[in-house]
Amino acid sequence: MTFPACHRVGVGYDAHRLVEGRRLVLGGAVIPHPAGLLGHSDADVLTHAVMDAILGAAGLGDIGRHFPPGDPRYKDISSVILLRDVVAIVGSHGYNIGNIDATILADEPALAPHIELMRNNLAQTLGVAVEQVGVKATTSEGMGFIGRREGLAAIAVAALIRAAGRDSP
Ligand code: MG
Repeated sequence: MTFPACHRVGVGYDAHRLVEGRRLVLGGAVIPHPAGLLGHSDADVLTHAVMDAILGAAGLGDIGRHFPPGDPRYKDISSVILLRDVVAIVGSHGYNIGNIDATILADEPALAPHIELMRNNLAQTLGVAVEQVGVKATTSEGMGFIGRREGLAAIAVAALIRAAGRDSP
């Protein structure tokens, strides 16, 4: 049975706690800041949201299913490496990346100077043009856990394209 080419969309969300003594890594970029995100991997909240969006679009669950938290293989791993694996997983199911759009929620540090590096890192890892990747940042104006600088969060959407004629989604 053949299927027409189709687009699928997915959404991803993630949050991690900010603590002193950790590097702050967002979209594979190391951001100068006194605190970094706590997690089993490098806790790259942006990349995690992007991975969940891609897996969700393909109907393949979430990153916890593919990279179980606590697995020693993923201790302090660069999340960009995991993102590369996610692209391969969805690719094996016949999906290519259409575009990604993401927003980081952070009251500090100011992320504007680092946005282009994050976009470039993600595009390179995804194997797409930088124009296919959107990265934005917004503040929470002092409200909630973002406003109290207790953590950072990110939300992402992914659109995937499946070539025509593939057997199954
Ligand atoms: Mg995470």
